Amino acid sequence: MIVAMQESATEEQIQGVIGKLVDMGFNVHRTTGSHQTILAAVGKPISFDHKEFELLPGVATAHRISSPYKLVSRGFRPEGTVVKFANGVEVGGNAVVVMAGPCSVESREQILLSARQVKAAGAKFLRGGAFKPRSSPYSFQGMGLDGLKLLREVGDETGLLIISEVMEIAQIELMLPYVDCFQIGARNMQNFNLLREVGQARKPALMKRGIAATIEEVLLSAEYILSGGNYDVMLCERGIRTFETYTRNTMDISAIPVMKQLSHLPVLGDPSHGIGIRDKVAAMAKASVAAGADGLLIEVHPNPDKAFSDGAQSLYPEQFAKLMDDLRVLGPAVGRTIA
Ligand code: PEP
Ligand code: MN
Repeated sequence: MIVAMQESATEEQIQGVIGKLVDMGFNVHRTTGSHQTILAAVGKPISFDHKEFELLPGVATAHRISSPYKLVSRGFRPEGTVVKFANGVEVGGNAVVVMAGPCSVESREQILLSARQVKAAGAKFLRGGAFKPRSSPYSFQGMGLDGLKLLREVGDETGLLIISEVMEIAQIELMLPYVDCFQIGARNMQNFNLLREVGQARKPALMKRGIAATIEEVLLSAEYILSGGNYDVMLCERGIRTFETYTRNTMDISAIPVMKQLSHLPVLGDPSHGIGIRDKVAAMAKASVAAGADGLLIEVHPNPDKAFSDGAQSLYPEQFAKLMDDLRVLGPAVGRTIA
């Protein structure tokens, strides 16, 4: 942290700030200029609020230099994290991994057909919500345990890995036998109790960016999971809320290279929620891969017009197959293969 004193600061005020920094465990390096004194505080403390220093008498400004997160930072594992799954699929390596399927599990026929279609096109994971966080309490809330059982059944039949959303702590234990990866939804990105419990689980987790979360907040939330000992975490950009109303969300493609630089964790793009408009999902998927995404989470439905949730952003199976073909052409241009 750098604390710049006011030109009018007295020696007593400067000593007051130095004393507080030292008490907190910092080593203080003082530069006394002809007009202004600058204090550089270096050392251990990870948790402090630099804004508190701006309230001290004689202080002009205080800036934080180090990141407030530790385990998720790129420096902790410069080579990057590769999350390995049972069937040999790896997320975070050179190959871009595609997770696809409907927003929600609706029936055996629907999820089995979805699985076969996304598998044929080249997806490695089947996605599908059994517990659904809906904006309205009157909307379809998901099939629950029956949905999880169907996911596992069709996952085993098609050889696809299963990813599904966990909404609350009580569901973690219940879901363990049925899913290969927990999805933590945008609305739960700051449910810190849930994040802590997923940190105790020995199962990978994909954590989505909250609709109004800064990149730093995303990384701090991921830190909750890693600090529990679960290092198999993937981040996912899924669009944020802005003043734009034409699209459902504004897909922040820029967050992908930024998170890749700041963190060693794999970063995925969710172009479906990112833009929310079916015929523009492919463009956002390609943009995500071009920007360095390690994977994609895409909504595909055998009959989107009849979907119980998110039909308007779900791809028709043919659209998804075409997108996968396009990604196989695009990948090599940006140094990636498609798993
Ligand atoms: C979903 O993936 O269907 C979902 C609910 O996503 P999000 O949490 O990003 O809204
Ligand atoms: Mn959805």
